[in-house]
Amino acid sequence: MRHLALLGSTGSIGTSTLEVVRSHPERLSVAALAAGRSRDLLRAQCESFKPRCVSVGSKDDADWLRSSLSYQPELHWGEEGLLACALYSGADTVVAAVVGSAGLASTEAALRAGRRVCVANKESLVVGGALMHDAALAGGGELLPVDSEHAALHQLLSNRDPATIREVRITASGGPFLDWPLARIQTATIAEALNHPTWKMGPKITIDSATLMNKGLEVIEASVLFGLAPDQVTVTVHPQSQVHAMVGFHDGSYQLQVCANDMKLPIQYCLLYPDKYPGPVAPYSWDQARAWTFEAPDLERFPCLGLAFQALKEGGTAPALLNAANEVAVAAFLQGNLGFWDIQACNREILNHIPAAPLASLAQVLDADRAARRHAEGWVQART
Ligand code: MG
Repeated sequence: MRHLALLGSTGSIGTSTLEVVRSHPERLSVAALAAGRSRDLLRAQCESFKPRCVSVGSKDDADWLRSSLSYQPELHWGEEGLLACALYSGADTVVAAVVGSAGLASTEAALRAGRRVCVANKESLVVGGALMHDAALAGGGELLPVDSEHAALHQLLSNRDPATIREVRITASGGPFLDWPLARIQTATIAEALNHPTWKMGPKITIDSATLMNKGLEVIEASVLFGLAPDQVTVTVHPQSQVHAMVGFHDGSYQLQVCANDMKLPIQYCLLYPDKYPGPVAPYSWDQARAWTFEAPDLERFPCLGLAFQALKEGGTAPALLNAANEVAVAAFLQGNLGFWDIQACNREILNHIPAAPLASLAQVLDADRAARRHAEGWVQART
């Protein structure tokens, strides 16, 4: 039986995780839940799963929960509450699904405390991947990637001699603008960018899928997770989202990982690894005729992907700078304060104007993150 601490329980990964838990009552239970703002949903989740440790964004919401729950768990709030859930002694497995760099400290702490950490917070790996590895090594923690492409790579690369591997490819759906001409992409609206063809996700990652920044962050994530050189990780556009990753060997052959495009699959993979049991997702159906297509990404129409390759090559704090700039730019776009094409312009500005430094500590990475945010916010303000 695994006892979970679920950080970010009310988001898209959080609610999918709880569906996986529901389908394995004899193998999975919920010991701790942490959420930011959606207190009504958190309350309903608490009543269903009765976690003993709960955290919410503010003290007011913690007080509200205390008076409205039918039982009395440990109640926490804010950043410290997130850490309390990550380190809760009743949990052995942490699902790190907080969005953005707000999830960094709790992911690191859980790895250092020797937990299995199923990381859906890709920023932790993009921004401080080497530090997460160090924390896992120091504390005996185990890091499993929830991201569909990386869970696929984990399956393909387990027990493989790294010397046999020539390259890995992660696939990209291409997002809603795959076939749009450059001029139309440049003036895309919020509603158009939020209309993702194959994956249903939160707003930040959906915009990142429209710019292909999500795929760029995932290239960095793959390089960090699997110890691959920057030029060993690349991207193939595959609009059907059924092949999630491929590994190319030196002899010229490839292995591909295939499953339905449903996040419950990689979540279940990480939670139950190395076991495989029937879960909430039906097996892939090969009986219907399907056409799969593959093509190279167009870096001219999707420059954010090129910026990610650049940041990966620069290394050190460069991915942190790019990630922070992008978080600011996407938030400004979603608020109507920036145009779609301004996102890549903001990211380029920050990446090219703040010098990257070698990665030293979590505090230093968070400093780089704050510096990039300040610079990006200034850039946004100058535009509006
Ligand atoms: Mg992904």
